Amino acid sequence: MQNESLSHPMKTESAPKPISTYGNPPKSLVAFAQRHQDKIREVGDERGTEDGYWIYLKAGFCWDDQGLHSLHENTVSDIIRAFGSVMPCRCKDCAEQL
Ligand SMILES: [Zn+2]
Repeated sequence: MQNESLSHPMKTESAPKPISTYGNPPKSLVAFAQRHQDKIREVGDERGTEDGYWIYLKAGFCWDDQGLHSLHENTVSDIIRAFGSVMPCRCKDCAEQL
């Protein structure tokens, strides 16, 4: 099932690019972001300033409210749960980037 890239060596666009991160987010959060690269552009770890974890969304998606392009929670499990509320964004900024 997962061998498509082997049988189609020229097809490189499906190769996962490493997600952009800063700080030192745990592997579980990076792996989660990697799986949701269609929606996530960056993951941040601001535990050093007691500001928890951040997920920055790609243009076209928002969290909780139109035009809100990032999520912030103090634990990985909370931010993954919060990510369930990500929805299509139709704000002016996104419209200009899409
Ligand atoms: Zn937007």
